[in-house]
Amino acid sequence: MREPTIFELSSTGRTGVTFPEPEVPLTELPQEFARARLPFPEISEMGVVRHFTRLSQKNYAVDLGLYPLGSCTMKYNPKINEVTCRYPGFANTHPLQPEDTVQGNLYLMYTLQQWLAEIGGFADATLEPAAGAQGELVGTMIIHKYHRDRGDHQRTRILIPDSAHGTNPASSAMLGFDPIQLPSDERGNVDLEALKALCDDTLAGLMFTNPNTLGLFDENTAEVIRIVHEAGGLVYGDGANMNALLGVFKPGECGIDVMHYNLHKTFSTPHGGGGPGSGPVMVCEKLVDYLPDPHVIMTDPGDDETPPTYGFARPEKSIGRVKAFHGHFGVLVRAFTYIAMLGQEGLRDVAEKAVLNANYLQEKLKGAYKN
Ligand SMILES: *Cc1c(COP(=O)(O)O)cnc(C)c1O
Repeated sequence: MREPTIFELSSTGRTGVTFPEPEVPLTELPQEFARARLPFPEISEMGVVRHFTRLSQKNYAVDLGLYPLGSCTMKYNPKINEVTCRYPGFANTHPLQPEDTVQGNLYLMYTLQQWLAEIGGFADATLEPAAGAQGELVGTMIIHKYHRDRGDHQRTRILIPDSAHGTNPASSAMLGFDPIQLPSDERGNVDLEALKALCDDTLAGLMFTNPNTLGLFDENTAEVIRIVHEAGGLVYGDGANMNALLGVFKPGECGIDVMHYNLHKTFSTPHGGGGPGSGPVMVCEKLVDYLPDPHVIMTDPGDDETPPTYGFARPEKSIGRVKAFHGHFGVLVRAFTYIAMLGQEGLRDVAEKAVLNANYLQEKLKGAYKN
């Protein structure tokens, strides 16, 4: 049933508040400030409270169902995340506060950078990008600057498998790269012959989603990376499907040079239903100097008596600032909480159950789709 609007609840002459008798003479509001026939609802105070409370109870919440939005739905949104991110020390700090007054927040960001890098097998990470798509943009900016710095100005092409997410060609095109579509073979892997034919000294890199959009781990992963590296290109990993790999496979150890995660897909931060996203980017050793500015570093490791201190620094060859302030901090607190709660074994368990669930669904849907 449709809720009445507050105007439909209005009843002529009813008021919400009763003002005390004025002690000064009444005057009319000047006409340039008050439009004469503005239709304010006339409703009692309790009427207003009940109307808006009723509307607020229509809000969608994790207690009523999952947060629905494509791949951002494929995870659980623990309520403890909502408790920790509301701690006053996290929720009430200002992004421009002096570093020595926000050491706890900087510790959290530094540790999360380290954890995310370790989980993926990378050297370091930035937490700034606001979504996976912005992570892709940051990653391709890093690839772009890396080639520029080496004088490789002719490297203008980025190869993107035909099963990739639409943001891959969009991000690379925004930087002025030419996105080139790479066909898949009949098993859903990158077609190696087509890849070899497209590799030359104009290749800037390949954007590789693994497991890919078909839900398949590319059987030729090592070979694909080797071919691209041999041609002087870098490999960007689209980590949106990392759910399946946590604690099982480290893309960085397999030669992926730069990769994003979607915290709202893999690390339990709410996004479907309206939460802000977050797309941290991890890099291998040779790209750490290109990370965005500011980057959280440990400024002093401390000793037995004094705890370590943290601060912001600009990496030497940084691509510059990509986001206001320091990314979506409240989202970072949620992801930190999730990883801290699960630990190493818990993360691996997530991956094993994600793969089991996907296979379960596939079995259930057999026959429902034609190949
Ligand atoms: C969701 C997704 C993206 C884009 O991430 P956003 O956070 O939505 O910007 C990129 N690639 C793949 C494979 C995805 O599933």
